Amino acid sequence: MAKKHIIIIGAGAAGIFAAANLAADPQLQVTVLEKTSKILSKVKVSGGGRCNVTNSCKEPRQLLKFYPRSHKKLIPAFAQFGTADTVRWFEERGVRLKTEDDGRIFPQSDDSQTIIDCLLAACAKNGVSILPRMGVEQIIKGEKGFILTTTSGQYLACDQLLIATGGANKPEAYSWLENLGHSIVSPVPSLFTFNLKDKAITELAGISVSEVSLKIAGTKLEQKGPILITHWGLSGPVVLRLSAWGARVLHEKNYNYTILVNWLSELKEPEARSALEAYKNKHPKQKIISNPLFSLPKRLWEFLCKKAGMAENTLWNNYSAKSYNRLINMLVADEYPASGKTTFKEEFVTCGGIPLSEVDLQTMESRCCPGIYFAGEILDIDGITGGFNFQAAWTTGWLAAQAMAKALEAD
Ligand SMILES: Cc1cc2nc3c(=O)[nH]c(=O)nc-3n(C[C@H](O)[C@H](O)[C@H](O)COP(=O)(O)OP(=O)(O)OC[C@H]3O[C@@H](n4cnc5c(N)ncnc54)[C@H](O)[C@@H]3O)c2cc1C
Repeated sequence: MAKKHIIIIGAGAAGIFAAANLAADPQLQVTVLEKTSKILSKVKVSGGGRCNVTNSCKEPRQLLKFYPRSHKKLIPAFAQFGTADTVRWFEERGVRLKTEDDGRIFPQSDDSQTIIDCLLAACAKNGVSILPRMGVEQIIKGEKGFILTTTSGQYLACDQLLIATGGANKPEAYSWLENLGHSIVSPVPSLFTFNLKDKAITELAGISVSEVSLKIAGTKLEQKGPILITHWGLSGPVVLRLSAWGARVLHEKNYNYTILVNWLSELKEPEARSALEAYKNKHPKQKIISNPLFSLPKRLWEFLCKKAGMAENTLWNNYSAKSYNRLINMLVADEYPASGKTTFKEEFVTCGGIPLSEVDLQTMESRCCPGIYFAGEILDIDGITGGFNFQAAWTTGWLAAQAMAKALEAD
């Protein structure tokens, strides 16, 4: 019997995980083609070099909440291979994992190389060939199977194909797939930080507040969580989360919008006002600027007081009503016009890609072109930070591997 050949395009998390799950079989040849010289390059830099491999959230319905465009259709996929399966998979192969307080799971070594070594060892055990500098340019559907043309001018034949080429923010990057009959959900970036027009607050770069509420004016977008002031604007978990939920809306606004910061998180204007009144009545002779309230960092409190028009020596018993009201307003709805975004060093991902309606989510097989499978970020799945993007890559890579092996068996 002739050997069957599976080609996987893309040596990222999804492609390599699929290869690692295609059991060694003398009748099966598995080849991974990678256009760059680097294998698992994003895994290497992920999680600040520590690789946030998955999350402790186990229940598929709960897990969906971390995927902003969460399609309920993904529930069966996560039920078949979810976060607990990821943990088991790595632990069975000798990787010791740890869960941090916020639910993120990392290798105990705090080194992404541990994950890379494990994945590559599993591929080697299965006899997988991984070929770097082999970009695929075109896929031609044959009578049985596929012919691929590569950037180096080679032709490669295979019986089944897994496309795991990751995300890309330019629609042109997907045109070779449209030739296969697929449509593309227009790709836009997700998980970025906000650049501010007015740079005054960036003087406070490095200052963080443990919980603020952020809104995008004129939309329903709102998130709560820790914020970090940077040299270019605003960052931190709450910003990344808001950018993920707002990926499409913010793109439509060409990244020009107004951010409303409630520095007091849950507190509304009347509650903030009564807290200030109570403090004022107790400490009428104190300087307002010198005594931060609501546990805000001193420099941020000073900044807000000055922005509200308070002088250095303004006391709680001699402020102007105008600046007092401005301060209260600023504490609960401070406005920052944003202009542009920054993805540098962040865990940016692509929102958009192959529509889930064009893929059988039990098997990851294309509904447009049978014999072709998809896994990872090329699909229209994107999560917030916390290990959810890798989980999507592991889940879809695993499902594709099982289905491809089964289909070849039946052939
Ligand atoms: C800096 C950074 C840190 C991150 N940290 C985390 C984290 O800690 N936890 C988490 O869950 N997520 C994280 N992510 C997101 C996560 O890395 C991705 O969601 C995940 O890598 C997607 O896997 P993938 O295999 O689908 O795509 P990729 O990892 O992008 O791999 C796709 C591969 O396909 C190759 N390729 C593309 N086109 C072709 C072609 N035509 N021919 C051949 N090869 C091709 C590419 O070169 C690439 O190697 C991070 C992302 C970034 C950018």
